[in-house]
Amino acid sequence: MNILLIGSGGREHALAWKLSASPLCDRLFIAPGNPGTAQCGENAALDVADHAAVIAFCRTRGIDFVVVGPEAPLVAGIVDDLTAAGIKAFGPRRIPAQLEGSKAFTKELCREFGIPTAAFARFTDEAAAAAYVRAQGAPIVVKADGLAAGKGVVVATSVEEAEAAVAMMFSGGLGAAGAEVVIEECMVGEEASFFALSDGTHAIPLASAQDHKRVFDGDEGPNTGGMGAYSPAPVMTSALEERVMREIVQPTVAGLKARGTPYVGVLYAGLMITAEGPKLIEYNVRFGDPEAQVLMPRMKTDLVAAMLACCDGMLHDFDVRWWDETALTVVMAARGYPGAVEKGSEIRGIAEAEALDDVIVFHAGTKQDGARLLANGGRVLNVTATGRTATEAQRRAYEAVARIDWPEGFCRRDIGWRAVAREG
Ligand code: ATP
Repeated sequence: MNILLIGSGGREHALAWKLSASPLCDRLFIAPGNPGTAQCGENAALDVADHAAVIAFCRTRGIDFVVVGPEAPLVAGIVDDLTAAGIKAFGPRRIPAQLEGSKAFTKELCREFGIPTAAFARFTDEAAAAAYVRAQGAPIVVKADGLAAGKGVVVATSVEEAEAAVAMMFSGGLGAAGAEVVIEECMVGEEASFFALSDGTHAIPLASAQDHKRVFDGDEGPNTGGMGAYSPAPVMTSALEERVMREIVQPTVAGLKARGTPYVGVLYAGLMITAEGPKLIEYNVRFGDPEAQVLMPRMKTDLVAAMLACCDGMLHDFDVRWWDETALTVVMAARGYPGAVEKGSEIRGIAEAEALDDVIVFHAGTKQDGARLLANGGRVLNVTATGRTATEAQRRAYEAVARIDWPEGFCRRDIGWRAVAREG
């Protein structure tokens, strides 16, 4: 079949790599894609916000199946529009995509179906929110309701900091995303990500991962889109995974089905492993970036077959298998990231890095300029390695990083430290 993958980041290169390896995939198109995805299929310069243009592209190219990488098109209802046009698409429709599109939606769902999460209150009025913050005290977490590209959450250690976050959000600092604010109890524990597939009725587990959000070693400095990740997350024992499926994922899938808005797609649960057990921090309605870069190299099962089973309501007798290895990815970013960065510096040495065993370099913000590869964004490369242990995967990934000749880039030197320390 012919497949169209929507997106252009490191996640999409990892998905394109895995989709193109499927015997079910004849031609793969990626819109808009990047120089990495161009090695797996054909990039198409399409405005993916223009759903009519995407549908027209599918018709002219004979696309049988569309896979949506990022959240924005899902929240904008691209799957509803493709389905209405008779084109099969992987990902949730607009309403269940509110699991990521609206924090209030998810918190209300948790309340209705008894899913463990932080205690919370919702506000559309600044004075009431500020009064609540003062009454609760710190630490406390202030969140803009809508999509804010990772900038909508303030974990405040003082009442003053929380009040400032409330004021920033209500004064329009995050645009429409901050029109409603959710204030949450601050949970304590180790964070992990857990991925599952849902066909609307049945959910099956995929795998776990952990990422590093802060820009500097030791998990210091400002938040980023993610500076690295590894899978599996050692904190997620099989007993914990079963508990997450039973207490969090399955009630979510059953709840959305009962509401008449079934969830079809990958469900990415951001978890806090607290002393009382796993609790939901947030849901994302797509694969993570950079988590996809560590899930795809570990996945034994055909991704296209798994995604089709989701869309066809056939997950009840589907089983996704994994290689036992640990996969670890180091993000190489342009200097200055997550602040302003300069584009256009030349990157060399990717082939040398990939000449090492069990190493793949997934592209994110790169651009091809004739024979030269240029940096074209904040997060630029995902240097990914697998190994029998996290220690081995980490060593291989940094060996590969050392072969990349890009003086204008930087990376963290301690990706996977938690998993490596557990092995030590
Ligand atoms: P992302 O970039 O992960 O999509 P987001 O803006 O959707 O981020 P969340 O994932 O909800 O926001 O929160 C970001 C981070 O803030 C979490 O990874 C976690 O470290 C912290 N956090 C959020 N909620 C809580 C909470 N209730 N208690 C403690 N920490 C929290």
